Amino acid sequence: MGRTPGRATTRPDGRVMSSLQKNFLAALVETPPPCTDEDPEIFFAGSDGSTTTRNIVAAKAVCRSCPLIFACLQFALETNDQFAIMGGKTPNERARVQSRYNERQAA
Ligand code: SF4
Repeated sequence: MGRTPGRATTRPDGRVMSSLQKNFLAALVETPPPCTDEDPEIFFAGSDGSTTTRNIVAAKAVCRSCPLIFACLQFALETNDQFAIMGGKTPNERARVQSRYNERQAA
């Protein structure tokens, strides 16, 4: 029985996952990160785009204890996530380095 090409690498939105993305998702399964035990609300901005300083501080503290912090940050940059605190950085903090990251990936 052969593999089904693309099945494991295609996201529900039709975009293909890179090996970095697949490896990060596999690592999440293998080593459940500390954020899985936390209130998800602290990692996301409110519907008006705002989030509280208290939530940011709490989310960053969780991320600092995470063994996947660098892989998570790289995943967030690669997927250009604009909603969650990931890899210990807010979307605004990542936006400051996003273009440089994109340039490096394209080189
Ligand atoms: S670095 Fe990423 S995976 Fe780790 S706790 Fe923070 S959001 Fe979760």
